[in-house]
Order: sequence, then C-alpha cells, then structure tokens
Amino acid sequence: MAEAAGGAARERQAPEALEAREALVTLVRRMQPAVDRYELGPIRTNCYVVRAERGAQEAVVVDPGDDATSLRLEIARMSVRVAGILVTHTHYDHIGAVAELAEASGAPVYVSEQEAPVLARPSDFYPGRQIRPWEAEVQLSGDETIDLAGLTFETVQVPGHSPGHLAFYVDEALFSGDVLFAGSVGRTDLPMASWETLVESIRALVDRFPPETVVYSGHGPPTTLGAELARNPFLIELRA
Ligand SMILES: [Zn+2]
Repeated sequence: MAEAAGGAARERQAPEALEAREALVTLVRRMQPAVDRYELGPIRTNCYVVRAERGAQEAVVVDPGDDATSLRLEIARMSVRVAGILVTHTHYDHIGAVAELAEASGAPVYVSEQEAPVLARPSDFYPGRQIRPWEAEVQLSGDETIDLAGLTFETVQVPGHSPGHLAFYVDEALFSGDVLFAGSVGRTDLPMASWETLVESIRALVDRFPPETVVYSGHGPPTTLGAELARNPFLIELRA
C-alpha cells in the first residue's frame, strides 16, 4: 500500500512492516485520542468524552450540555476521572450540565473569558431555562495550550456563531462546537453572530490544521476538515 512512506500512517501498517523499520522508529505522530460522542438534551447537542487512549483513567469532557445524571452514570461506567471540562461556547444547549459535572467531579471548567459571564449568570441570558450557574476555574483567551488527561489541547478563537467561541485541537482531532458541521456551518442569525467572521474563523482552521483532521462538531456526526473544504456547500468562498 502507499501507506509505507512516512510516519503518518504508521499505526495502520502491517506488523511485519513495522518490524522491518524498527531501527528507524521514533514517535513522529501521536495516535488520535479516543473520543466518545453523546447526544444530550432535546436538540441532541454533542458532548464528547476524550481520552488519550481507550482504557486511560482520565478524560476530558467537552460541552456537557444536558442530561447531567445520565452523563455522570456513563462516566462512572467508564471508570474514568474527569480531569477537565472544556466549553466551546455558552449557548444554553452546550452548558446545561457543566455545573453538576464540575461539582461532582471537582474538575476545572475552561471557557473563553468573553463568554465566562454567561456561564456564571445563565438566567440573565436565558430567562426561563433552568441552567445552574458556574464560575469557570479557567478563563481562556484562545491562544494557549492546556495539558489535561495526558493530552495537550490547543485553544483557537473561532468567533462568528458566538463572539467568544473557542475550538479545541488535539492530535488531529478538532472540537469545533457550532462553527463547522458535516455539510453545514453554525447559525449566524443570532445576536452577536456574524457570517463574515464565521467564514474567516473556518478559513483559519483549514489553513492551520491538516485536512485529515477529524472535526467533532456540536451537532451531528464527525467529519474532516478536508471533506468540508471540498464539499460543504457553505464554504464555496474558501475554495476560490
Ligand atoms: Zn451554539
């Protein structure tokens, strides 16, 4: 197979190919993390439980949006300790279980400094919705790295769908929140949203990360940056 060249496909090679190259083996690329996806709440928002590998004892939870009790049971079933909670943005369907999971696990919550006030006072922004407030332990500016559960996440500012929206990148996996979906993009008809800003955010992602990067979106199935750049009908201007 054409995969023999380079380290990018090394983990997919046949064992004998690995053996033949043993003297040359150095870690040139990390394995992608183990990612489990859960659709939570009435609009089936994706929550991700991310581990360095299957069987790892620590996990990072991205966007615990709802169904806190079920999510906690699932995490208990996996026998993992939650090392951190990452919030891509603070629309109500992404934050509904943050407080309960943070309280139960003791894990620090990471959110952009711009949207931390929403997490701290959700009733001001979503009157009538029963969302417990949480003061985030860490406020992010979107240009840092975060070491959690044996993984190193890069934070990236991706405004447009919401003003303080962040994406989290680790080992060719991108947690994109509601910026980019398989075949679609985030809504920009909301307060403080901007189509032009959203497109520039997506442009920055495809410029910065490789096309094989797996995109774990806020809604719907995973995709890759390359597939979306090639076929997403909303990204025509990025293909020019
Ligand atoms: Zn959203």
